[in-house]
Amino acid sequence: MTKFEALGLKQSLLNAISDLGFESPSEVQEKAIPILLESETDLVALAQTGTGKTAAFGFPLIQKIDSESRTTQGLILSPTRELCLQITNELTLYSKYEKGVNVVAIYGGASITDQARQIKRGAQIVVATPGRMKDMIGRGLVDISKIDYCILDEADEMLNMGFMEDIKDILSNTPKEKSTWLFSATMPREVSVIAKKFMHSPQEITVGTKNSGATTVQHEYYVVGGRDRYPALKRLADTNPDIFSVIFCRTKRDTQKVAEKLIEDGYNAGALHGDLSQNQRDLVMNSFRKKQIQMLVATDVAARGIDVDDITHVINYQLPDEIETYTHRSGRTGRAGKSGISMVIVTKSELRKIKAIENKIQQAFISKKIPTGMEICEIQLYHLANKIKDTKINEEVDNYLPAINDVLQGIDREELIKKIISVEFTRFFNYYNKTKDLSTSDSGDRGERGRSRDGDSRIPADGNVRYFINVGEKDGYDWMTLKDFLRDTVNLGKDDVFKVDVKDSFSFFNTDASATEAILKTFTEFKVDGRFVNVEVSKNPGGGGGGGGRGRRDRSRSGGGSYSRDNDRNKGRRRDRSDSKGGSSSSSGKRRTKRKSDSY
Ligand code: ADP
Ligand code: MG
Repeated sequence: MTKFEALGLKQSLLNAISDLGFESPSEVQEKAIPILLESETDLVALAQTGTGKTAAFGFPLIQKIDSESRTTQGLILSPTRELCLQITNELTLYSKYEKGVNVVAIYGGASITDQARQIKRGAQIVVATPGRMKDMIGRGLVDISKIDYCILDEADEMLNMGFMEDIKDILSNTPKEKSTWLFSATMPREVSVIAKKFMHSPQEITVGTKNSGATTVQHEYYVVGGRDRYPALKRLADTNPDIFSVIFCRTKRDTQKVAEKLIEDGYNAGALHGDLSQNQRDLVMNSFRKKQIQMLVATDVAARGIDVDDITHVINYQLPDEIETYTHRSGRTGRAGKSGISMVIVTKSELRKIKAIENKIQQAFISKKIPTGMEICEIQLYHLANKIKDTKINEEVDNYLPAINDVLQGIDREELIKKIISVEFTRFFNYYNKTKDLSTSDSGDRGERGRSRDGDSRIPADGNVRYFINVGEKDGYDWMTLKDFLRDTVNLGKDDVFKVDVKDSFSFFNTDASATEAILKTFTEFKVDGRFVNVEVSKNPGGGGGGGGRGRRDRSRSGGGSYSRDNDRNKGRRRDRSDSKGGSSSSSGKRRTKRKSDSY
């Protein structure tokens, strides 16, 4: 007897399982399937993404429904259209040997009448996104008043995306006498609220370690003058060359305006808001999914459906009116077991809002400084060097090498490196050289708090050393794991390493000056997996810089209005491209002269 047979599934389902090539049940399947088959019970199942939750509820559901009846008996709510389709496909495969089982997907962005027609033909199982489901209930196109099973899949994600009210609404249209199965990767407070309110003494199973949810997101705030929001945003982007982010504005107008400015300045940006047609929004979302857009500027409402997993940064260009909204925003990052950073650009007068949010999310913010121009230059310099290192050689250049060698004759290696780097770097340097510091000093009590948390503002600039280390996201680090690595390797205390900013193939961090000797000594001839790990004291000791997001490789993108020369998507948008120097700095130069109008 295989392990699947021991769970109590009927033969036709076991045959389907064998066709799928599943050899043995995953842990969540092994725990959930017998419980769901044997009893009519509510269930809360916590298991990470990719652990096989669909089959854990899918097989019992199919076994339990009556395929002879055409009444809708099972409702599965899931956060996104992609997931709906995925679940529907899976369930169709599971039920391939069952006669008359119909599974129908209901989701936004597709014809509601087509979906209604499919339901009308008889669907025992409906898989739906909350928004479209509510819509269809409202129009009387679907009847869920007789369901026996309601499954909330990826419950934490649904709530993160702001579907709480929709879910409550939908559940109020279902009978009291039913079983509710809730599946979630994490158990944040909002999920427990749903469980308490809508479930009756649910059985609980947990696979792996329980994850409270919010801990993978680091929250940071940056105090700036009211007129400096936009230049601050640019600097945050320039400090994170591999950023893949959603930027939240309060109004459609600001959303459009910020996106337009970013595009004008050479960034791969796009706008998402309600004044765009569905078609326009689909186009923007497709580009974002493909990472052709690195900075998606969005309103809260429009961002609700964003279902992209590896967003590195959420940037609050303006804080929302409702604190609740902040949690939805920051929940766009740090998904699927990855870490993420939520940044807030605030003015001094808004600082009390940060406190209110801290109370609500039960997590402290880290106060950070908008990086100075020279810090950005340093980061861009390393980024560029790594980009050159990682560039795949195009064999086509061989044909031209003799001629090129002639041109470059007499230039030695060192000089050549300097020249190559300068080709791109000079533009950044010219833009940021002598720009003013954008950071407005924090109010006193905030400084106090930062001190106790991450140690961020705990040490005055003179006692604070910033380091460069040649490992980053590519080596599997994020800000949490690099911090751990440094603390363990150098044997430092819990709060001794701070301001950890992980870039694609390198990182920065700070310590107190008293730790410098130990660090530099540890990392002399230090190898990991046969590779030298090298630490150097950074030229910019301040290190206020942006967050340590997880980087993305090989995405050409523009920094301070440059970099995008090799980027076809920006062709035509950029003026004066033919003159490499003048051209690429044109937007930077323009920014400089237009500086005063940068603000909102
Ligand atoms: P989750 O919902 O927990 O994120 P899924 O249900 O989407 O995970 O399953 C993740 C992948 O694992 C799917 O491709 C699925 O087909 C596969 N899978 C599920 N159960 C098994 C199993 N018992 N053996 C092998 N593969 C499985
Ligand atoms: Mg799933």
